[in-house]
Amino acid sequence: MEIFKSFKLFGLYFYISNVRMKRRRTIDEQMRNRRNALLRKKRFLYQLRGGCCELCGKHFALEALEIHHLVPVSQNPGLALQTKNLILLCHDCHVKVHQGKESAVKQKNRP
Ligand SMILES: [Zn+2]
Ligand SMILES: [Zn+2]
Repeated sequence: MEIFKSFKLFGLYFYISNVRMKRRRTIDEQMRNRRNALLRKKRFLYQLRGGCCELCGKHFALEALEIHHLVPVSQNPGLALQTKNLILLCHDCHVKVHQGKESAVKQKNRP
């Protein structure tokens, strides 16, 4: 391991390798990019679906709506940002969907 920097803090020595620092930065960047991409997607969906929750049909502010993945990201990460896999739900409906009413959403007619 290549020592990049070492310093003493609270009587303990800390060593930071440049390898680890580089990897950490990459992960942070990836997470930030993914968050930004999802936020952009959310604004796009908000316009597309008229700012309404797709389950109860009520109108909400952008911040009050949440993105729900029809096919969970854990099941198929490739669908994470696919418009057809995303729906906007208000918090209440989102909770309901995750409590087991997801099939109702899947069969709903989508614009
Ligand atoms: Zn709703
Ligand atoms: Zn969800």
